[in-house]
Amino acid sequence: MAAYAWIESALATVHKANWYRSVKTMSSPGPTAVLNGKTVINFASNDYLGLAGDSRLAEAAIAAIHTYGTGSTGSRLLSGHRLIHEQLEGAISSWKQTEAAIVYSSGYLANIGTITALVNKRDLILADAYNHASLKNGARLSGATLHEFGHAHVTELQTLLETHRAYHRRCLLVTDSVFSMDGDLCPLPELIDLAEQYDCMLLIDEAHGTGVLGATGAGCVEHFGCRDAELIQMGTLSKALGSLGGYVAGSANLIDYLRNRSSSWIYTTGLSPADTAAALAAVEIIREGSELRSQLWQRVTQLKQALTSQLASENDHQTMQLLPSESPIFCVQMLTPAAVLTASQQLLDQGIFAPAIRPPTVPTSRIRISMMATHQPEHVDQLIAAFSVMAHQ
Ligand SMILES: *Cc1c(COP(=O)(O)O)cnc(C)c1O
Repeated sequence: MAAYAWIESALATVHKANWYRSVKTMSSPGPTAVLNGKTVINFASNDYLGLAGDSRLAEAAIAAIHTYGTGSTGSRLLSGHRLIHEQLEGAISSWKQTEAAIVYSSGYLANIGTITALVNKRDLILADAYNHASLKNGARLSGATLHEFGHAHVTELQTLLETHRAYHRRCLLVTDSVFSMDGDLCPLPELIDLAEQYDCMLLIDEAHGTGVLGATGAGCVEHFGCRDAELIQMGTLSKALGSLGGYVAGSANLIDYLRNRSSSWIYTTGLSPADTAAALAAVEIIREGSELRSQLWQRVTQLKQALTSQLASENDHQTMQLLPSESPIFCVQMLTPAAVLTASQQLLDQGIFAPAIRPPTVPTSRIRISMMATHQPEHVDQLIAAFSVMAHQ
């Protein structure tokens, strides 16, 4: 039918720009896996602690299915939730040292539902330009006036506050804690100062900080020693926690308000018992010990040193640049989408899975490498060797 013909030409445009993407089949969540039939070392996972393949999470999920069934049977307000939903929210708030927490069915839904509940067209949102798509979409959906500040650019944020704050009722500052496609951290202490100075709420998205940063793995807020500040701490259960779902932690009033006003929590089915139990087991494992976290950071340090010296020695034309990182995420920026596609394929030919990230996801093209606690030192050596071969191709 003619009404749908535009889709084909829209796809052709995507192909032409080298923006086309398709899904690959990955056999399992571990550090090595079979990708489209080929064994690879996996540097594309957000499972930072290797918990998605941990038998303790699997057993907790199976036990929860036997006790509570496979489905949550309805929205939590209408149909009631299970005891494990309460236990998970209690574990998250005590870990985060907040009064309360609420669990959503995904991190994306948590961001959309929180932002749209907190602000509307009378209000102002000031957001880091590199924020995750779910934060950007939540901001647009809210109807609030939205201004982006340059990535981590505190003085630009202050100028925006000076210019616009006075003309709006509420103001919400929004930032990733660890920037997911770069690996650097937000300037949290400065953001908190500005939030206090200009009477703003501050939402921090800890999707890549939770389980990874801070003495107890509670995230970037703990890492910076900012746990006394009143914040809206959002995160996901689907990365270091190895499960599925999202959460918001904060004051008892905030969480109570979200339960009453957050559409993407109210009008959707509660998190499944299996996902809830797996996430609860993960929080307990992370809080009990720091072994997985210290393994992860050993690998991160190894990779950072090796990659820095590799790029310094075999990058004559400066076509590759390691972006600043303070997390398990490392990005090697290249000049064009075509260049990263070629590089990603060359790495893949050598058994290394490190994806090409291109516009429109990010402003510049890059190879993204993410480390896991379950990577072995040899895995890092092989990655570096593959970069070396690539440099000579
Ligand atoms: C992954 C991610 C989300 C979304 O979380 P899901 O649970 O996968 O929906 C939100 N924010 C950031 C920064 C993320 O990286």
